[in-house]
Amino acid sequence: MTTWIGCPDSNFHKGRPFGLRPEAVVVHIIDGSFVAGESVFRDPTTHKSAHYAISRSGESHQFVDEKDTAFHAGIVVNPTWALLKPGVNPNFYTIGIEHEGRPDDVWPEAQLSASATLIGQIGARWGIPLDDSHVIRHRQIRASKTCPGNWLQISELLQRVPTTLAPSAATAASPSAASPVAASGALPPASPVNAVSPITTQAPAGPGASTIIVVRTLKNVNLRLGAPNKEAQIVAVIPAQSVLVVSRFDIGERVDGNAYWYADRNGNYLWAGATDAPDPTVLAA
Ligand SMILES: [Zn+2]
Repeated sequence: MTTWIGCPDSNFHKGRPFGLRPEAVVVHIIDGSFVAGESVFRDPTTHKSAHYAISRSGESHQFVDEKDTAFHAGIVVNPTWALLKPGVNPNFYTIGIEHEGRPDDVWPEAQLSASATLIGQIGARWGIPLDDSHVIRHRQIRASKTCPGNWLQISELLQRVPTTLAPSAATAASPSAASPVAASGALPPASPVNAVSPITTQAPAGPGASTIIVVRTLKNVNLRLGAPNKEAQIVAVIPAQSVLVVSRFDIGERVDGNAYWYADRNGNYLWAGATDAPDPTVLAA
């Protein structure tokens, strides 16, 4: 049983860009009390959130809808997670669950079983296989953190998932499963008009959100088909002052001294020099 709490607009993004959807669950520890964690997510200046938090007594609170992007694992430092998508903010394709406690705490059975039940429900909803490639520790994305602490083994959670909730291996691997991205590895085609998704929120400024690449076009800019250069066919013209979430960047043709180009999920490109973030390496730091 989960209680909906919600959080301010500045602490999450509505939706998930580029047709991305949840493909993994990231396990966190608050490093503090349930109340302390909640106050961070309810504070509009923190730019931090998680989809859920689980107390040591097994209480479950939800702050962000699973369809939306929570700011819980956006900084990538020496990642060890095999399924990480290079250049794509992990927040866009993960669900984050915080847990009350300190890194060295032993997790109570009530907390473990509540978390496992939730993970099982998430797996069933999104067709996420319940294994240690798809249910991961935060530090597998950000090695500079100990999160979720030193006690927890992912197996401690997985062995407690109710068997009625665990998707079978056949379901998880089937191309007809609910998750086309995870099942086939191929992204569905999108029309050129939707190739870069405009959003209406401002770029988040907090440290927890600093790797979300949100850019604003300073002038009309051509979206190029499949290659970061001016030889490539124009598939759309993005108007000046559009706010865009882009999935990654590449080095391409040098234009006016700038060789950075932003890519959408279909592999189409716009020149970074036409945006308010001409150097994406600053944003990705
Ligand atoms: Zn964490």
